[in-house]
Amino acid sequence: MAYDNDNIFAKILRGEIPSEKLYEDDETYVFMDIMPRAEGHCLIIPKTPCRNMLDASDDQLTACLRTTRLMGHAVMKAFGAGGVTVQQFNEGVGGQEVFHLHYHVLPRHEGVSLRPPGKMEDMAVLKANADKIRAALAGM
Ligand code: AMP
Repeated sequence: MAYDNDNIFAKILRGEIPSEKLYEDDETYVFMDIMPRAEGHCLIIPKTPCRNMLDASDDQLTACLRTTRLMGHAVMKAFGAGGVTVQQFNEGVGGQEVFHLHYHVLPRHEGVSLRPPGKMEDMAVLKANADKIRAALAGM
């Protein structure tokens, strides 16, 4: 399957639609998921195009996983979480909805289940949670 330059995350990377940015480096960009399944749910994407893990280069995967690990530490610190769940889906039948490679990072607490998908977060809450993660990153 070909990469679609007009997918939502490509538009976020070009600044055509807004995102709550948490972190970036030369190869990756991180922002809040607008329909979080846990407080602090964020997404890590490569700055260069690929649909998912199946067509990603070794360099894209390495860069994304390095940033995913960083964000795992950051969200655990920001929310006092005991662990972190990482999710990554490939193609529609694999559960993927946006066709630009991304890793979900979800801070987890004992006894707290993930929320059901598809519920838009209040933007003030999203920003407050982003502030906590940015503060945690700044102290790392
Ligand atoms: P999936 O492709 O199944 O891994 O899911 C795509 C994820 O992107 C979902 O968790 C959505 O909530 C999230 N999402 C979709 N549009 C946006 C957006 N504009 N900004 C931030 N997150 C988004």
